Amino acid sequence: MSLPIYLIGARGCGKTTVGHLLSKTLGYAFHDTDHHLQTSLQCTIAQIVAEEGWESFRMKERDSLIAVTADSSVVATGGGIILRPENCQFMRDNGRVFWLSVEPDELAKRLDAEPENEQRPTLTGRPITEEMSDILKVRSPLYSSTAHHIIDATLPPQEVVDHILQVLSQQRA
Ligand code: ADP
Ligand code: MG
Repeated sequence: MSLPIYLIGARGCGKTTVGHLLSKTLGYAFHDTDHHLQTSLQCTIAQIVAEEGWESFRMKERDSLIAVTADSSVVATGGGIILRPENCQFMRDNGRVFWLSVEPDELAKRLDAEPENEQRPTLTGRPITEEMSDILKVRSPLYSSTAHHIIDATLPPQEVVDHILQVLSQQRA
């Protein structure tokens, strides 16, 4: 049996990019909780947050996490998935969790290059580097304690995938 692989980390750390590549290499299905949430509800994350607030979004995000969880799949998660302790426990209990770790400056650079990519409102309206830095101060301990493995995701995507594959093969040995 091949347990689900969960990718966690901040917006822009490469969960979607690396997740696609990894799933192709393994012959696994690829799921993205943000994508699942938006297609199942037929609206954008920005709309859910604007109309129902962050708390409601977080509850729907949890439903998506559970819905996409299956053996032989790679699951890219939303950056804030770790804010609910039950999500952290769920991922740890049901699969292998990898934190794609990237410093705030690099995250900001990536997000600046594609600001509309996530269709998600910024949390504070402040410059993105400052915001990422503050967010990571709070979230890094949560990513760290949730992850079974921490991966340096500043490397090119294929190298990030190779590191994950290396870890998985050590697990299976
Ligand atoms: P996430 O799904 O974690 O928000 P994405 O996979 O959408 O992140 O990547 C965000 C942006 O960063 C995209 O423009 C992507 O091409 C770029 N990117 C992702 N991974 C890397 C990487 N390892 N090195 C350089 N750029 C990357
Ligand atoms: Mg993504």
